[in-house]
Amino acid sequence: MKDEDGFEVVLDRKKAERVRRVRPSKDEYFMLIAKFVSLRATCPRLRVGAVAVKDGYILATGYNGAPRGMDHCIDKGCIVVDGHCHRAVHAEQNVIAMAARKGISLEGATLYVTHFPCDTCLKLLINAGIKEIVYEEMYPNSVTELLLREAEDKGIIRIRQFRLREERVREFLRELFE
Ligand SMILES: [Zn+2]
Ligand SMILES: [Zn+2]
Repeated sequence: MKDEDGFEVVLDRKKAERVRRVRPSKDEYFMLIAKFVSLRATCPRLRVGAVAVKDGYILATGYNGAPRGMDHCIDKGCIVVDGHCHRAVHAEQNVIAMAARKGISLEGATLYVTHFPCDTCLKLLINAGIKEIVYEEMYPNSVTELLLREAEDKGIIRIRQFRLREERVREFLRELFE
């Protein structure tokens, strides 16, 4: 088929339909990336990944692990205080650190993160200019929930849960490896 300018235009409707069906939504796309980022985490107690996004672009990524150059939990063990590991930097904090180091503003960005944030991360994210948090797994923290209610009431930040469906992830992997 030729278009009005004489160029050959090819549209395989079956293939196009398949691509359209498999193609991840934006939520799937960014959460999948956050999930892959979490595989780089070095604290065996919990592996968290996060990605800051604005206008469809990825600004920074982060996963939880020891400060740069220092020993990792998987090598030296976690330093546990009150049931929490104090060796690893949280994924959300590493997103902010990466942005700071590279001179990237997170103003107005959305953070996709694999787990509900702790209250310290929430406060840092607010002050870094993050306007929306999309998390996958609930990780109960009553202080975060309390602060979030106030922050949402004041219109400072929004939060929502988005769960990747395992069947969709399997579909993506099949697509990549078949
Ligand atoms: Zn640890
Ligand atoms: Zn945290």
